[in-house]
Amino acid sequence: MTTKKILNFLDRRDLADGPCLVVDLEIVRKTYRALQRSLPQTRIHYAVKANPAPEILELLVGLGASFDVASVAEVNMVLEAGAAACDISYGNTIKKERDIAQAYRMGVRQFAVDCPAEVEKIARAAPGSQVFCRLLTDGAGAEWPLSRKFGCDPYVAICVMHLARQRGLDPCGLSFHVGSQQTDPAAWQRSLEQAAKVVQTLADEGVLIRCLNLGGGFPARYLSDVPGPGDYGREIRRALRAHFGNALPDTVIEPGRGLVGNAGTIRSEVVLISSKSPGDPLQWVYLDIGKFGGLAETMDEAIRYPLTTRYGNTATVPYILAGPTCDSADVLYEQRPCRLPHNLQIGDDVLIEGTGAYTSTYASVGFNGFGPLAVHVV
Ligand SMILES: *Cc1c(COP(=O)(O)O)cnc(C)c1O
Repeated sequence: MTTKKILNFLDRRDLADGPCLVVDLEIVRKTYRALQRSLPQTRIHYAVKANPAPEILELLVGLGASFDVASVAEVNMVLEAGAAACDISYGNTIKKERDIAQAYRMGVRQFAVDCPAEVEKIARAAPGSQVFCRLLTDGAGAEWPLSRKFGCDPYVAICVMHLARQRGLDPCGLSFHVGSQQTDPAAWQRSLEQAAKVVQTLADEGVLIRCLNLGGGFPARYLSDVPGPGDYGREIRRALRAHFGNALPDTVIEPGRGLVGNAGTIRSEVVLISSKSPGDPLQWVYLDIGKFGGLAETMDEAIRYPLTTRYGNTATVPYILAGPTCDSADVLYEQRPCRLPHNLQIGDDVLIEGTGAYTSTYASVGFNGFGPLAVHVV
């Protein structure tokens, strides 16, 4: 959503200064509150990788959020924003042992794992810490699925939790992630059913799981409508009741995209409009930002950002959209072209909406000499 505050900021900024992302903190605050209302008993850990701008982290510290991080650098950012180390969970299942040790020295005591080798590292480098075992999910219904890279099957999870206890760790919880931009609020249902079985088996064997981390997946609104936080809250609470009855564990969610995606808009400039041959039905539009400037999630045309121009949304025609770099992979929408005004001109600005998450951190440091994406928080 491009708010008045964002537009006012852009009015004062020169288009010649290059593409930039502008984030409206008020939207982050409102979305945080909406997520809180939808799951009032659940703690919110912000997935820092979505957008680690210091102003966002500081706002969330003020709102009482906790944080999910994936590296020591992210631990540092969150601590610098004023968070307490005990409110940080190290959710990446792939960590160097020396990074685990460093995070432990900085006070982090919650770590995610999905295999015995990672438990052994944590036992050596972060003795006594809380361990969350991540379960594999199929990612069905997600527009940015997480494949089989993270998580393990229930049998491995049970072994992992027993091993954690043998090594003096606290086998505290299970986690899963139903896939990013998960457009089906019922997706949590299957994972919770599976988690409940693991919890039951472990309870029978004397290991009590106290906490479930329900991951991220809450969507941003891009081109098509998505259900709201209330719908997700209802479905998740229903699934929790169905599978845990009155023995509800503590719960945590880890929103990234759903919390900050709609708080940001990128302004870019049309560099070139051209055709490959006289009879081509589609023209190409080249912007001054592409896959390497922060729009990496257009990979496979997975995420489809809304585009707006000063001409409004009437009289649009399809265009192939591409970025400015000399890499042929830097094409944003070609299989499914995007619609822009028929009278779009070179030099016009194009607003790319819903770009508050997974853009600034994905920008390359300078491919072809195009610098990282400028970020402004208003
Ligand atoms: C990326 C990530 C998230 C956030 O996912 P979204 O789909 O952006 O909400 C949450 N938890 C973990 C462990 C992650 O890696």
